[in-house]
Amino acid sequence: MMNRSTIALDLEHSYAEQLPDFFAEVWPTPVRNPGLLQFNQSLARELGLDTKALSVEVAPQIFSGNEVPCDARPIAQAYAGHQFGNFVPQLGDGRAMLLGEVIDCHGVRRDIGLKGSGRTPFSRGGDGKAGVGPVLREYLLGEAMHALGVPTTRALAAVSTGEPIMRERPLPGAVLTRVAASHVRVGTFQYFAARRQFEHIRTLADYVIRRHYPKSFEDDQPYLALLRNVVESQAVLLARWMLVGFIHGVMNTDNTTISGETIDYGPCAFMDSYDPRTVFSSIDHAGRYAFGNQPGVALWNLTRFAETLLPLLDQEAGEQASADATAVLETFVPTFQQHWYQGALAKLGLADPDKPGSLSASERTLVDDWHELLAEHAVDYTLAWRFLAEAAEGNADKLESLFAASTELDEWLKRWRAIQNGMASPPLASAIRSANPLYIPRNHLVEEAIAAASDDGDLRPFESLLKVVQAPFDEHPAYARYATPATQEFTANYKTFCGT
Ligand code: AMP
Ligand code: MG
Repeated sequence: MMNRSTIALDLEHSYAEQLPDFFAEVWPTPVRNPGLLQFNQSLARELGLDTKALSVEVAPQIFSGNEVPCDARPIAQAYAGHQFGNFVPQLGDGRAMLLGEVIDCHGVRRDIGLKGSGRTPFSRGGDGKAGVGPVLREYLLGEAMHALGVPTTRALAAVSTGEPIMRERPLPGAVLTRVAASHVRVGTFQYFAARRQFEHIRTLADYVIRRHYPKSFEDDQPYLALLRNVVESQAVLLARWMLVGFIHGVMNTDNTTISGETIDYGPCAFMDSYDPRTVFSSIDHAGRYAFGNQPGVALWNLTRFAETLLPLLDQEAGEQASADATAVLETFVPTFQQHWYQGALAKLGLADPDKPGSLSASERTLVDDWHELLAEHAVDYTLAWRFLAEAAEGNADKLESLFAASTELDEWLKRWRAIQNGMASPPLASAIRSANPLYIPRNHLVEEAIAAASDDGDLRPFESLLKVVQAPFDEHPAYARYATPATQEFTANYKTFCGT
């Protein structure tokens, strides 16, 4: 049954119209009893949606896929990907469907799609469905990342289906509505590269340049400029992840966007005590996607992207092409480091507005030694930064309480203060607070909130946690428990799953 709603979302279809061979037409599978779990009003306003038309009766029908907006054109996108280093020539949207694109209030084109809305020609063995737990997890983590200033896809709605999905045990089903700058991935390019469809790669490259990096067309070598832009976006993204302690967990090339947004919140988690080797994903046995490996993996993924562009780069530069691509890839590490060190300096309260972008040798060592100190003492990554604010006010007690012994910390604090004293305008505690969140979606709280929603239909813990992580820099006395790390025992045994 193909149900069309009378509701229109002002959808456009640049992907479907300009890339006719890049998708399959699909239709969502109707669900028994859709119920709205969550709706993102502020995102809806940003997208310019008519929120009045999306009443409590209409919204669950639309965002479960039971009724398809009259101007939607549901498609499943084709893509390939390296999963844990192994190339899979055909993946594609196995449980996601793009409804169309809107132009948001900033003039930016954004995709709106459903995830968990049934099988597609790319579903392979899967059922095309999603559960309440993983859907709410993606919703929460995306909103937390957005509030932390990290580029990310976001959730517009989460709807329960009233139907069970079959996993290790039956679980309540749900559909997520996802908003993205686009869903084009490194894996989208790989799909056509694997089939040696080089004209398709050109069409796709032209499309993403128009959509994400239009200035590339002004360059003598637009496709090399595209590579440069994607490398930079990913370097910026990785610096942001690393500065908040985010572990993606499944950094396959099909989960690496061309736009530079975080996508696919599956086995991701925030690190508690600082250890670059931290891994939570139950399937990441070798620690390929461990916290500290992430920048290196991003570069590996970008190298796979560059390979898909080689035929185009060849036409631009002939024999010079692979040297050009290599030179661009070599900018990843310095660009990442530049953003990471600058971000770390801002978090230490040492960003000097009079000397933006500069980094002295003593500042670099200070940042490095801080991380070494946190690793050595297994200190909570979020609280350590945050408690620097009190230390800047002259009280280092809270910070010291995170360390078993404080001699090395005291020595480090002396150096930190010496650099501050050399600044024209020493850091204000408030600036440190606004660069360092007090609240992250802590793993034990995420699990607690999701279990209450999924097992008992109780959304209150989820909504409370969502409210806290949406304003992560604003301390509130009533929220003390949200700032408290999990027990060591919880963290030692914590495992995340791919959410399928
Ligand atoms: P992910 O690990 O979520 O990035 O997914 C990898 C691939 O598996 C993508 O092609 C997904 O569309 C597909 N996939 C994941 N879960 C399901 C499911 N339940 N049904 C069908 N396809 C799925
Ligand atoms: Mg994926």
